[in-house]
Amino acid sequence: MGLQSWKGCTLGEIGFLENSGVARRLKQEDCTRYPSAISRREFLKSAGLAGVGALLESGGLSPQNPPLTGARVKRIDVHHHILPPPYMLRARDRVLAISDRDHFRLLNWTPAGAIEEMDKTGIATAITSLGLPGVWFGGARAARTLARTCNEYAAKMVGDCPGRFGFFAAVPLPDQEGSLWEAEYALDVLKADGIGLVSSYDNKWPGDVSFAPVFEELNRRKAVVFIHPAVPGCCDHLMPGIPASTIEFLFDTTRAITSLLVNGTFSRFPDIRFIFCHAGGTMPVLAARTAAFVQRHKEIADRLPKGAAFELRKLYYDVANSTNPSSMGALMNLVPTSQMLFGSDFPYVPAAVTADGLDHFGLSSADLQAISRENATLLFPRLKGRD
Ligand SMILES: [Zn+2]
Repeated sequence: MGLQSWKGCTLGEIGFLENSGVARRLKQEDCTRYPSAISRREFLKSAGLAGVGALLESGGLSPQNPPLTGARVKRIDVHHHILPPPYMLRARDRVLAISDRDHFRLLNWTPAGAIEEMDKTGIATAITSLGLPGVWFGGARAARTLARTCNEYAAKMVGDCPGRFGFFAAVPLPDQEGSLWEAEYALDVLKADGIGLVSSYDNKWPGDVSFAPVFEELNRRKAVVFIHPAVPGCCDHLMPGIPASTIEFLFDTTRAITSLLVNGTFSRFPDIRFIFCHAGGTMPVLAARTAAFVQRHKEIADRLPKGAAFELRKLYYDVANSTNPSSMGALMNLVPTSQMLFGSDFPYVPAAVTADGLDHFGLSSADLQAISRENATLLFPRLKGRD
């Protein structure tokens, strides 16, 4: 795609496009810095760790052996954002308005820059999703077009660098029909690894009956569904000076989980593998309270024949920006490590924040390996052969 394709851009926009990867296509050397092509055993051997692979396979790393940290982990990052140039042309101001983080990283995002960050922090593969706010700005036609453009961009990244990327496809919810069409195209033609949603749309949370046909179809496909927090229409700017990302993201994730739980979406569509972000927001703290609420209301309890706790414990939770004692402690009280996944939230947050936090949290090597990589290979089996 050349700059001549972008007639009508202002000079500033063209400068931005030149910086943002439109002019510079991914080259092979951009993809291969990380040794994902060699076997894990070869890599451990080359790193002077011969024998560790066998120990790992038996799950028996002993204290005198070095833990798998940093570049040796070969992480799979399930929470990794892209900001394609066509998306930024449409949504740049909204993207920046949502984030109180370093806008330089957002404005200068490129696929090559993403790989550089991945290489620094041992991320072998990133499953990408669109940065907020997503494709819905109130019009179905525009949302469908933008979703298609962004999904084709993401698929191109996957093809340019085999093994380094996967993607959760954007769909134009709350446009139900458009979402069904785009999910079919993304999963069947573009070979997306799953579908990326946000926690609420125009003050509707995903358990709303209007979203049920989409979840029914995703259940039929046994899809992986990644639900990222949104800025909820109800509650933005409730407190002066406190951006939504500080607490509302976590509350809206909690609302999304609650909505899917009490409306029976989790129990009716058990083949969807849901991933929620940031250690589940505040849900791990509120899980017992929520389960008690369900028990008190027969019409809700009837929708959950296996109980609220069962439904909450089968979900997957990424640990992006949450590797602190309060968040991890609450999550680990709710779910076993088999339900926890590595996520970085790059480029909003440097990948090292979560990577270093996880590496130094005091987990066993087996748990660290499971959260950083192995649990994700069960969700994305195509990545398993790249061990
Ligand atoms: Zn994020």
